[in-house]
Amino acid sequence: MKDSHDNAVVLSADEIVPTSWYNFMCDYSELLSKEDFDLPAKLSHIKSINVAPKQPLSLMKQSYNTTDREILIPAELREKYLTYRATPLRRAIYLERHLSTNTRIFYKYEGANISGSHKLNTALAQAYYYKKAGVKHMVTATGAGQWGAAIAYACKVFGLECTVFMVNVSLEQKPQRKSIIEMFGAKVHSSPSTLTAVGKNAIHKKNIEWGSLAIATAEAIECAREMNASFAVGSGENAVLLHQTIIGNEALYQMSLLNEFPEYVVACMGAGSNFAGISLPFMKKDLIQQGKHCRLVAAEPIGCPKLTRGIYAYDINDYSGTTPISKMYTLGSDYIAPPIHAGGLRYHGTSEFLSAMYAKNMFDAQAISQRDAISSGLLFSELEGILPAPESAHAIAAALNIVKEKKPKSLLINISGHGLYDLAAYNEARTGELSDGAADEKLISNSLGALQRTLV
Ligand SMILES: *Cc1c(COP(=O)(O)O)cnc(C)c1O
Repeated sequence: MKDSHDNAVVLSADEIVPTSWYNFMCDYSELLSKEDFDLPAKLSHIKSINVAPKQPLSLMKQSYNTTDREILIPAELREKYLTYRATPLRRAIYLERHLSTNTRIFYKYEGANISGSHKLNTALAQAYYYKKAGVKHMVTATGAGQWGAAIAYACKVFGLECTVFMVNVSLEQKPQRKSIIEMFGAKVHSSPSTLTAVGKNAIHKKNIEWGSLAIATAEAIECAREMNASFAVGSGENAVLLHQTIIGNEALYQMSLLNEFPEYVVACMGAGSNFAGISLPFMKKDLIQQGKHCRLVAAEPIGCPKLTRGIYAYDINDYSGTTPISKMYTLGSDYIAPPIHAGGLRYHGTSEFLSAMYAKNMFDAQAISQRDAISSGLLFSELEGILPAPESAHAIAAALNIVKEKKPKSLLINISGHGLYDLAAYNEARTGELSDGAADEKLISNSLGALQRTLV
C-alpha cells in the first residue's frame, strides 16, 4: 500500500466542480412508469383532493424530464456552489490499515459547508429557482435541522424570507442547529406546535411529543398556505435527487483522475437524496456499456427500516395527507421512529424513484443499529480525522460490513455531513449509555397494519 497522502485530489475548484447534473430519469425512464400501479380505492380521494405544493415550473419540469441526460447548472448557481465545492474525495488510508484490508476505501465528504451537510446542494438550487419564479417567502420542515440550516442559508444568499418547522426531539438534541437557522434570519418553530391545526391535533391525539418529519411537513404546508408562501422539501423528490447528483458527478471525475471506479458505492438512506446523489452517476448507462459496474448499498437505521422491513405501496408523505401520495417503500405514515440521533433517517418512507429501483433489485440495503453506526463513526473519526454525522456513520458501518464480507477491490462511501453537533451521541457511545435504537415492534406492526388496511 502506498504510504502517502497524494491520493487527495487537488485541482482548482473550477476544474472539478461539475457544470451539469446527471438526469437519471433519462437513462432509467422505465422506472417512472406508473401503469402497473393500482391506486387503492381508499386513497384515491386523497389524490384527487390534494393540492400539490406550489412549485416553480422550472423545478416541476426537472422532476419529470426524461429527455436530457445532463442538465446544465445555471452559471449564477454554480458560482454559489464554488464557495464550498469541490468537496474532498479522499482515500481512507488509516482505516484501510486498521482493517488490514486490501480494499481501497474512498470517501466523499459533504460536511464542510455552513449547513454541515449535502443538503446545501439542493437548498441553493431551490432558492435560486424560487427566487427566479418571484417567490418571496419559503416555509419548510426539517428533521435533524440540516435541511433547515441549508435552506435558511440559501434563502439568505438569494434574499428570500424563511420559516422552518423543526422536529421537537431534534431541536432538543441539537439546539445549535436552531441557532444557525436563526443566525441567517429564518424563524424556527418546534413541531408539533400549537401554531397550526395539524400540530394541535397531533399533540391532542397521541403521545407524540417527539414529533416526526411527517407532522412537521404537514405543519409547514398548512403554514405556507396561510401565509401565501411556498413550501419546499429537502429530499425525496426527483428534482432534489437531481441536484444532489453534483456529488456523484464530481466524485466520478475525481475517481477517474485516480484511474479508479468503485466496486461498491455506499450511502445512508433517509428519503434518498445523498444516496441518489453520490450513487446514480456511477450507474450511467454509457458507463455500464463500457463494462463499468458497481453495486449500490443503502444503509438505514434498524429503528426506521423502510427498505428492509417496509412494504412497497401507495402511502401519504406527511401526517395530514396534504402532499401527493407516493408509491414507495414505507413503514406507514403513522410510524414514529424512536428518537435516534440520526434524525435525518427517521422518515417513514423514501423516494419514489429509488423505491422503484429497489423493487427491481437494483441496489441492496442494510439495517444498522445505532450502536454499530456510532461506534463506526467514532472509529472513522479517530483514524481519518473527520467526525461524521450519525446519519453518515450508518453508511460507514455498512461499508465496514461489505469490506469484511465481500472483500471488494474498492469502495466509495458518502459522508453526507459532519457530527460536530452530535457529540451527545458520541458521548453516550463512549460511556456505554447509547441505546441500539431498535424499532418498537408494536409501532411497526400497527403502522404497517393501518397502511395495509388502506390497500384492500
Ligand atoms: C438529511 C440528511 C440525511 C438523510 O437524507 P437523504 O435525503 O436520505 O440524504 C443523511 N445525512 C445527513 C447528514 C443529512 O443531513
